[in-house]
Formats: sequence, C-alpha cells, structure tokens
Amino acid sequence: MKVPRRAADRLWNHACSRIEQELSQKDFQTWILELTPRSFEDGLMTVEAPFGLYRDRIRQVYLPALERAVSEAADHSCRVEVVVGSSVGTRPANRRWSPPSGGQEAGRKVTSSPLKSFGNFIVGESNRMACDAARALASGEAGAGNPLFLYGGVGLGKTHLLLAIASELRSRARKVLYYQGEDFTRKMVDALRNDRMDAFRREFRFADALLIDDVQFIAGKKRTQQEFYHAFNLLHGAGKPIALASDRGPLELEKLETGLRSRFQGGLLADLGPLDAELRCRILRAKLKEADLEMEGDTIENLALRMTGSVREIEGLVSRLRAARSQSGGRLTTQVVESLVIPYVSVGCDVDIETIVKTVATHFGITREEILSRSRARRVAWPRHVAAYLCRKLTSASLPEIGEAMGGRNHSSILRAVRSVKDSMSGEPALAERINRLETLLGRGAQFS
Ligand code: ADP
Ligand code: MG
Repeated sequence: MKVPRRAADRLWNHACSRIEQELSQKDFQTWILELTPRSFEDGLMTVEAPFGLYRDRIRQVYLPALERAVSEAADHSCRVEVVVGSSVGTRPANRRWSPPSGGQEAGRKVTSSPLKSFGNFIVGESNRMACDAARALASGEAGAGNPLFLYGGVGLGKTHLLLAIASELRSRARKVLYYQGEDFTRKMVDALRNDRMDAFRREFRFADALLIDDVQFIAGKKRTQQEFYHAFNLLHGAGKPIALASDRGPLELEKLETGLRSRFQGGLLADLGPLDAELRCRILRAKLKEADLEMEGDTIENLALRMTGSVREIEGLVSRLRAARSQSGGRLTTQVVESLVIPYVSVGCDVDIETIVKTVATHFGITREEILSRSRARRVAWPRHVAAYLCRKLTSASLPEIGEAMGGRNHSSILRAVRSVKDSMSGEPALAERINRLETLLGRGAQFS
C-alpha cells in the first residue's frame, strides 16, 4: 500500500532522529541529511541521494542503520532503497548542496552538541510540568514524584530531561545508571550468555539512581522486564530516584507486564506535548544563537509559526541553515531559507481534531453532534471509533486531549476505540481501504465543510 507523501516524510523524519543518535553529528549532516524521502510503499522506503557517490556510500555504510531506523519508526520491518535523484517529485533541486569536499564546512571544526542540562532546556506550556518534575526529582525534593514517567512524541525533550537529571545528580557525586531501553536488553542478554548476571545485578545494588530511556523497547521482552522489575524494586525500595521515558504512556504500552505498569502508574506521569508557536519561536531563536546564525526577528517568528514539528526538527533546520551558510560564503538569502524550510512546514494547515470529526461524520452520513454525543447506537458508535483512530494517527494530541475534544470522554474509552478500529482493519481489508482513503483525504488537508 502506498502511503501519502506527507506520511512518508514524517516517517523519514522519525527515522532520521533515531539515526542521529547513533552517528556523529558530522556523519549525520554529511550523509543522512542529504537524503530526501521519495516514497514509502509496501514497507519499502525509497530515498533520493544527490549523487552516485552518496548513493554508494550510503549503501555500503549506512543501509543497515537506515533500515533499522525506518523499521522502528514504522513499527514493522522495512527496507530502504537509495536512488540517485532524477528530480522526480516536487522537491526543489536547490535543497541540496555539493559534496563536503568542495564546501567550506569541510575541515571546519564541527561543534559537538552541547551538554544536555536544565540550563539549556527551554521551558514552555507543553513541557513545564515534565521539566519541573524532573528538576524536583534531581534535586531530591521531598515529595517529588518517584518514579517519574516522562512520555510524549519523538524529539520533544524526553532524553534531554533524563540527561539533565543525570548531570544534576552526578554533579553531587551520585552514581547514576542511564540506559536506553535497547541497551538494557542487550546488556542483560550478554550477561546471561556469559554467565555474568551477578555482576549485572550488582550494578543496580550500588547505584544511587536509575534512568531508563525509551522504555517502550523493553515492553514485550519477558525476561528483560523481569530483570528490570527486580532492579526497579531494589532502587525504589531504597527510596532512590527513578526516571523513565517512553513514546507512550504506561497504559498504551500494550505489552508491558502488569507489575511494571502498576509501578509506573503509581509514580508521577508527565507528558511532553507538541510545542506551541511561542515555544517553537524561543527554541528556534536559542538554537540559531547557539549555531552563531543571525536572522531577523521577523523571519524567526515567521519560520516558527509555520513549522509544526518537534525540537528535533528545529535542530534539523538549524543544521541545514548552518551548512547552507558556509556554502554560500556566509550569507543566507530569503530564497535559500525558504527552500530549506520546506521539509519542516506543513502543507496546508495541520489537520485538527475538529476537522477529523466533521470529515468522518460527513463520510458516514451522520452529524458532528452525533459523534460527540453519548449515543451507543452502532451507526454512531462506529464512526466515533473511526474518528478517534484518525485523531490518534494524524494529530499529536494525547489520548486525554482527544477524549476531551470528542465530547469529554476519558482516555481509556478513546484507547478502546482506537484498538477496536485497528483490530477490525486487520481483519477486513475493504474496511481498512476505506479508512485509509479517509486518512489520505485528511492528510492532504482536504476536508468537507
Ligand atoms: P526525545 O527523547 O523526546 O525524542 P530529545 O530529548 O532527544 O527528544 O530532544 C531532541 C533534541 O531537541 C535534543 O537535541 C534536545 O536537546 C533538544 N530539545 C528538546 N527539547 C528542548 C527544549 N525544551 N529546549 C532546548 N532543547 C530541546
Ligand atoms: Mg529520546
């Protein structure tokens, strides 16, 4: 099945943000940022490289990492094909710049990314609660929520906050264990294989704090969860700070063991929501300053207003701007800025819950009010489920936000609705097709009045 262009772009952005954590900043900028997603169909992501040289290098060195990242972002196994751009599609050719050997960026010191701390975490409406909770935990405030469970979409600052907690605790000579979910599993499997479980467990006994990032990768792995449960109880029982980060809330981590789920639920849950324009603007301004890029205040505001994505995307844009500046001998024309910002701004307006509800209602021949009502009649309940599913898929709203906007329902009824649609879709291709068509319609920004 072919997915819409915007969905492919979004998937690619997610994949990129995963790879970015694996590669050096220089490799990432030189090789990965040069690729443009072209299509995504039947698990095959086709990306365009600017030259044969790039294509070959990507195939030789980065393909496995790319495939892994795309598969993770898509939640199923995917392949990646690299082709040389024939300028098919709608992307302007001037988004690419020449290979680094010809550019001035080559040989220049690439600044390593600054330490993640509370000091350089910019706080706004959508991340204040998470940041306050993280600070409280790190400073050992009495009454701080423990464990702290941070959740939210990609690139919104979860890892940054965990690292800030770590650095704060370490500055007070605390021994902090920080694991990515996958590393935790890998390390445990190694220990098991080499008969070193004792040493693995001892580490936790002597730790003062435990931070696990991307906990979603632990869910579903039985043995890993058992080990983690032990470690958790050991530290928690001793009153030591524990913080976790995940792309979903504990209720949505379907394969999480119930013991762990109730532990997580029993702590403080803090979600990082999508950024509002004001916060995007302050972050963009700060990142431009960090990169020593000057831009007029009006331009910054204008860019921030039009961007829709995460902080990761803001950083992506700043990287591109920096590279473009060195290519163009220090000046950034409006035209260059405009061409670089294309992947980060939404085409038309971003679809919102209200639009989805109206469109779904019209599609099923009922009214918006019926969808929001309490009626349980099938002719109303089913479209309501579909609307919930599409809100979940196409917007960055959290379950409680969707529930609130859909007639004041609680998050678990939205979650049930989403699941029931998913189940029905997997059993009934014709129905899946119909819902996908609706999704494409909404994804293109088209709507019924
Ligand atoms: P997540 O773990 O939620 O996917 P990260 O913490 O890795 O996201 O954030 C992505 C990038 O954006 C990182 O480089 C991080 O430092 C930066 N970032 C995120 N939120 C903020 C913020 N509020 N202020 C400054 N930088 C931020
Ligand atoms: Mg992260």
